Amino acid sequence: SETEKNTLRSPICAILGHVDTGKTKILDRIRKSKVQEGEAGGITQQIGASFFPVEELRRKTKSIPAAQRLQLSVPGLLVIDTPGHESFANLRSRGSSLCDIAILVVDIMHGLQQQTLESLHLLRVRNSPFIVALNKIDRMYGWEPHQDAPLRDTMKKQEKHVRDEYDARVQKTITEFAEQGINAIEYHKNKDFRKYVSLVGTSAVTGEGIPDLLMLLVQLAQRFMTERLTTRDRLECSVLEVKMIEGLGTTIDVILVNGVLHEGDEIVVCGLNGPIVTNIRALLTPKPMHEIRVKTDYIHHKVIYASQGVKIAAPDLVDAIAGSSLYVVGDEIDREAAIDLAKKEVSDLNRYIDKSGYGVFVQASTLGSLEALLSYLEQVEIPVSGIGVGPVHRKNVMAASTMLEHKKEYAVILAFDVRVGQDAARFAEECGVRIFTADIIYHLFDMFKKYVEDIEA
Ligand code: GDP
Ligand code: MG
Repeated sequence: SETEKNTLRSPICAILGHVDTGKTKILDRIRKSKVQEGEAGGITQQIGASFFPVEELRRKTKSIPAAQRLQLSVPGLLVIDTPGHESFANLRSRGSSLCDIAILVVDIMHGLQQQTLESLHLLRVRNSPFIVALNKIDRMYGWEPHQDAPLRDTMKKQEKHVRDEYDARVQKTITEFAEQGINAIEYHKNKDFRKYVSLVGTSAVTGEGIPDLLMLLVQLAQRFMTERLTTRDRLECSVLEVKMIEGLGTTIDVILVNGVLHEGDEIVVCGLNGPIVTNIRALLTPKPMHEIRVKTDYIHHKVIYASQGVKIAAPDLVDAIAGSSLYVVGDEIDREAAIDLAKKEVSDLNRYIDKSGYGVFVQASTLGSLEALLSYLEQVEIPVSGIGVGPVHRKNVMAASTMLEHKKEYAVILAFDVRVGQDAARFAEECGVRIFTADIIYHLFDMFKKYVEDIEA
């Protein structure tokens, strides 16, 4: 396996940014050229991730002189395929990020947007190194595309007014980052990766700047992550998504960052009603591209080594929570210890609950998004008195209603990306608890702020 051949494991890379900036398209572009050329031994598609072997990274970056001097001692790059800050937030283990590096995608025509700021908040909280793709450069007026060209090559061939527009947009973005307290700089001018975040113009449509982007990722991984990337024995595995699959029942898509999983292993993950203890019935990865006929056509494995994205089928996963760590019962830890660790993952978030006993109630779809929301509320100094994962139920409304007597403005549920049960909604209406739902953290904040202002007016 990769882990046995190399002392360094593959860095895990997530992609974040505002909706429609081109996150999915960039990943498609990185993969597509390869698939079209039909070469063997290239990128392997996994569950929730794609693996880019180092030879492939070399091939894709060979058009850049600087990339040829790069030492590449990582086996490859594992890029998380389910873009959005949800998946970044859920790649966590015991409160720290399992993501080694990230790409923050910004639409060069729009600059920093609401979810960009949200992503920045997450990257800061998790202390993750990242680079910025200023995407959609091909949309600038008069742009002449040069398929898959390195940024500087295509830039040289553009007319002066196009280059001027690019420079102006880059400057504007740098100013916007500065307003967020971040020093950003064009990557080829970056002499200090610790102080400055690198910006690179890209187009997911023409592939321009993509070689640069890949080079920067590897560079970042090599320079700063050697310690992090040294393989450890401890199992590190995170539940990225919980999915119902016909014929398999409820499955979990996990990213195995360190260690080994076996068919039949007894595992523990966090559930809506406490830790779930179950046994792995099947370890599944997708069939290679050309073999895929039916969606549910998976390869079964007896054993899986890190780093990999894999689907796990097992009984009793219905209530599993994304963002939970996965624990294997065995030599490292016994069942009781694993259950305790799973409980602790949820209870650790109680540190965000205000000591005064007063505050809003917070409900989110996954452990990762709950943590992101709580850390944001802490930053903007909104106290929290109760937290939960999953749909809003009547009992949550009941809890929030206790604030009505003391602090009416806190008789509120901020519900992030979760359903509100009919019964809960009706009951909230009756007793005067307000439920705000949104899938952008800032929107919840804005709604709440306005509500408080209206009460005070
Ligand atoms: P996501 O929401 O960030 O994943 O964005 P998508 O990848 O779904 O892209 C949103 C839209 O922008 C789609 O219509 C894409 O075709 C388009 N798009 C993405 N990247 C580029 C780009 O580099 N250039 C242009 N012109 N369009 C792009
Ligand atoms: Mg997308």
